[in-house]
Formats: sequence, structure tokens, C-alpha cells
Amino acid sequence: MNNKGFTTRLIHADRIINQPQFGAVHQATNNSVLFEYKRAQELVDVFQGKQAGHVYSRSSSSSTVALQNILTHLEGGIGAITFATGMAAITATMLSLFKAGDHLILSRFLFGNTRSLTETMQSLGITISFVDVTNVENVKQAKQTNTRAVFLETIANPVTQVPDMAAIGQWCQQNNILFMVDTTMTPPNLFDPKSVLISLTISSLTKYIAGHGNVLGGAVVDTGLFDWSKFENILPLYRCGDSQIWGLTQIRKRGLRDMGGTMSPESAHAISVGLETLVLRTQRTCDNAVKLANYLQNHKQVAAVYYPGLSQHPQHQRAKQLFSGFGGILSLDLVTGIDPIAFLDKLALVICATHLGDTRTLALPVASTIYYECSVEQRQQMGVGDNMIRMSIGIEDFDDLVADFEQAFAAF
Ligand SMILES: *Cc1c(COP(=O)(O)O)cnc(C)c1O
Repeated sequence: MNNKGFTTRLIHADRIINQPQFGAVHQATNNSVLFEYKRAQELVDVFQGKQAGHVYSRSSSSSTVALQNILTHLEGGIGAITFATGMAAITATMLSLFKAGDHLILSRFLFGNTRSLTETMQSLGITISFVDVTNVENVKQAKQTNTRAVFLETIANPVTQVPDMAAIGQWCQQNNILFMVDTTMTPPNLFDPKSVLISLTISSLTKYIAGHGNVLGGAVVDTGLFDWSKFENILPLYRCGDSQIWGLTQIRKRGLRDMGGTMSPESAHAISVGLETLVLRTQRTCDNAVKLANYLQNHKQVAAVYYPGLSQHPQHQRAKQLFSGFGGILSLDLVTGIDPIAFLDKLALVICATHLGDTRTLALPVASTIYYECSVEQRQQMGVGDNMIRMSIGIEDFDDLVADFEQAFAAF
């Protein structure tokens, strides 16, 4: 399989990797919560990890494992764990790997709910430095003796900053620091996490991976590049067998089994079906986004456009090296005098909604929605202005998107 193209491998992955019964081309959805063992000793062996198998579907089921196998294959990792949502994946990973007294270096430009989660983490005694990750020097300066990890997003939302991932990855490896990256904005056909030495990818499958706005999911994938035997926070209980899997074992036991943010079998199936068209959808999205960014940038009623595919974007060259497409997040500042809320009401095709990575083009006013809990100062630090609109570009016919903007602008 590995010599085949990305989409070929993707659409045949379930059939070949998971080998469903009866010649089915999809792994069946299995709703059983419990699993019977004819011999009690077998149940004991599965509980103790001496034999593979499922015991209770909060921890694992054939449906979620099938999706985990596909995700592992696509990222070229050593294993994956799925969760009910992207936030469940992030929370479970943070709370199972870090403890009071640890220090983390996080991007200053984080998804709003992740930023909010960091307040809970700090209340539990984890200290955090928020830095501008577009420059590796800021990361280096934030290091303390108890720094355990760096966490950032491949393309930040809504201002689309692209971190200096190659340099940060190298620095993390030299310093034996865990490099964790939220790759939601750049699914594996656009970005190879191993190329910048990422240890763990965390992502929301709800967005580009599932793609159709009809299912929630999250995942953590271990790329196999981190030496877990040197990670102090692995509990003695999980320090047995091959050290490569210690990290995922601890996340699976503490983060999934104990915290319980399990993905449902139906969701696993819906996500794997949505995933089949990932390349077609993201290519069309990236094409539309580049064209729309150029159109908007030349528009008199637009003060600024934020999109890594524009040559004026501060990290355009870096984005070109890191990704094989610039993604679907495109933000803009309207000129003063045009109220973003009034403008959004004029758009007829573009949907006013919070979400991203959908087949449909979506837009929302940023300051008054996803960042309304932040102070003015925090918004300034993240580069979020009052006139900003964030869009997630879909796969509509391009001419129809432009026509929608034309008629909306004409109203002002
Ligand atoms: C949406 C999103 C999440 C959270 O994912 P859910 O599946 O909605 O819980 C995390 N990170 C980023 C970058 C996101 O866009």
C-alpha cells in the first residue's frame, strides 16, 4: 500500500487495514459496550495488556480502532487514539501528561476554547508561558528547567500566523521537550508532521477530516519520534514493555478510560466516510481560498486580508515550504464604517455560522463571538480587530462566491 498515492491509500484503507467481514468495504459499526470472553483467563489477559482485545467500549471498540488505524496510517505514526471531540482530545492529552509544577510553552495564538482550557490547567498548578511562536527565539527564551512541552497550531485562527515549526521542532528535539501540535487546519495531505519533528499531533476531526458538518471527533497521533523513556511524567505503572508506546498508553488509560470522552461507533464510521474525499475537498477549498483572497485584497471596502497564500503574508514563504496548500481559513478587516454584523447579514450564500473545515463557506464576526470572553488587550495580542470577519472557505463554484461578495459590498 505504501507505494500508492494518498487518495488511493485512503479509500482502500478500511478494506485492507481493518479487513472487515463478508467482503464489506467498510468496517462495520459495532455498538456493543461489553465483550464476552469464554475463558475468564482471557479477560484477565486483555485487562492486563498481555493480549489484544476490547473489554468495555469506553476504552476501545472495533469501530474506533478501525478509524485509529486509518489515521495512524495516513500520518505515518505508530498509533492513534480517538475522542468524542477535538476538545476532548486536547484536554485528555494535557491532563494525562502534565501535572502541578510543570511548565509549558504555548502559542499566544490559540483556538479560543483551548485558550480557555489553559485557565483550568493553570488552576491545577501547571504554569504556562504564552509566546509569539512565529519566531523560535521567543520559544527559546521562555524555557525553564521544568519545561515539559511546546504546543501550537499549524495555522492559527483567525489571523493565520504560521509558526516557525522547523526550528521549534529541532530545538525541542535537542532539549528533549515534547513537541505537540494541533494540526486541525492542515490535514495529513497538506502537511507531514514528521517533517518538522512533531512528537504528538492533536486534531479536531470535526473539521476537514470529517468535512461535512455532521459529526464531532478528535484524535491524538504519536509520530514515534519522541523518546518517552526520558519523559519524567510517565507513571511507573506504564513504564513497561516497548517505551515507544508509553505516551499513548498513559493518554489512553488516564485521558480516555478515566476521563471518558469516548468517540461513538457511529461517529467513527461517519468520520471515516467523510475522510474518503479529503483530498478533493481540500484542493478545491485551497483553490477557492487563494482566488478569493486575491479578489478581496484588491477590494476598496476591505482594509486587510489574512491568508498564508498571499505573497504579502508575513509567513508566506514558510507556509509554502511547510504545506502543500494554504488551507481554508481566510480572515479580513472591513474598512472602518462598514459594520461586520450588517455586512454578514447581506451575504446570501455564505453562511453565518461558527465552524470551519466544512464543504460550505462560513463566516462570522470575530471579536463579538469566538473572542467575546477575551479582554480588549488579549484580542490585541492575538491580532484580532473589531472589524474582523473570519471565513472558512468551502467547495462552492468560485464564481458564485465572488457574486455573493459583490452584491454584499454593493449594499454599502
Ligand atoms: C475546532 C477546533 C478544535 C476543537 O475541536 P472540536 O471537535 O470542535 O471539539 C481544536 N482546535 C482547533 C484548531 C479547532 O479549529
